Amino acid sequence: MRTAWILAILLAVSFFPAAQVPGEREESIHRPLVDLDGDLYAPEAGFRGSDWKGRDSDDLDASVHPGVWDSENGMFDDNCNGIHGWTPDGYQTYEEKFCKDSQPRGVVIFGDSAAAAFHIPKQWVKDKGLTPAYRELVVRDVHNEMDWPQKSWATGFDPSIEGRSIYLRMRERNLANHRDYQNLAVNGAKARSLVEQVTNFQRRPGDIPVLAFIAYIGNDVCKKNIEDMTKTEEFRDQLLQGLAALDAKIPAGSHVLLMGLVDGRILWNVMSERMHPLGITYAEFYEFLHESQGNPCRTWLTSDKASRDRASERARELSSVARQIAAERKYTNFEMAYMDFPLERIFTEWLAQGKDPAELIESVDGFHPSHTTHRLLADIVWEELTLRHPSFVGPVNPHNDAIRAQFGDQGGH
Ligand code: CA
Repeated sequence: MRTAWILAILLAVSFFPAAQVPGEREESIHRPLVDLDGDLYAPEAGFRGSDWKGRDSDDLDASVHPGVWDSENGMFDDNCNGIHGWTPDGYQTYEEKFCKDSQPRGVVIFGDSAAAAFHIPKQWVKDKGLTPAYRELVVRDVHNEMDWPQKSWATGFDPSIEGRSIYLRMRERNLANHRDYQNLAVNGAKARSLVEQVTNFQRRPGDIPVLAFIAYIGNDVCKKNIEDMTKTEEFRDQLLQGLAALDAKIPAGSHVLLMGLVDGRILWNVMSERMHPLGITYAEFYEFLHESQGNPCRTWLTSDKASRDRASERARELSSVARQIAAERKYTNFEMAYMDFPLERIFTEWLAQGKDPAELIESVDGFHPSHTTHRLLADIVWEELTLRHPSFVGPVNPHNDAIRAQFGDQGGH
């Protein structure tokens, strides 16, 4: 049971501060550890560095980071997208030639652990301990708060995901978007975290516009007690406050996709009778987490059906509020649309293909969307954007081939 306790502590540490202390100051803002120029971008991967926001190519100059326009000065790559220098005729910079009129835009997500791709590898809970080769990965995992934003559906860029994130599709569409991503998600965050996470969003009004996602998909109902769940009016006020703060900072011409909450009953329905890697059922595992204060969602991960139903009912009500806000509210600097978080659709399609639904849920915590699910999320959200909101993704850059020929991998990630 030692491993089980370590796991419970990890989950408690990851979720306790923001998720289960109503009224306490939130821990929804995590900034890079190494950021010498204070521009919120870092040259290293972990500790809220380039796994979370595009790599800073000059950490001694706060005006150099992804998302700024740099068409005038060909000498330096101010926006770190790997495109710089003057054309051979000397009349314009490559930024002017390839990027300026291409309608570039960055990808941003404000969200929770599901937005950051929380994941504890199964090897962590195996009795024989870690192989030396695996330790490096473990260290990186801890550096990233047990999150894997580099593989997340919105801002992932890791080669292993084979292009299946919104950022990589936006990059493929327009190579000027290279490195322009910000994952501001924090484990345990919920609607009221938006106003705080906006302060960690690095953009000034004159910068390149963004395609932003707001996805707090469960923590407003994942509480210790049913009574603690966010009420609809609170949820409305918190979202409106966050959106107003966002409007004051986001560059004009940006787009925002506001997403609803999930129906977490699917977790119990799929997992409860299955065996956890620790050798107990998930029902027993959730109960153990409950007793050890490590249960990230006591309202859904419980044998109490009435609790699960009430949590889902509230989640549905909160999603309706979000849908209504997106339909009714107009903002100065961004256009907004609403989308149901498409988890149900993913499960339905997966089952129709005769596949095991447990593959869609993280096996160690029995709670988060698995990385397989992240790939499917990227596919479905991209389909929604291109079919229903093509203006959100912008045009294909006709200079992509020329950029590739001139600048190769643009410095990588
Ligand atoms: Ca550049």
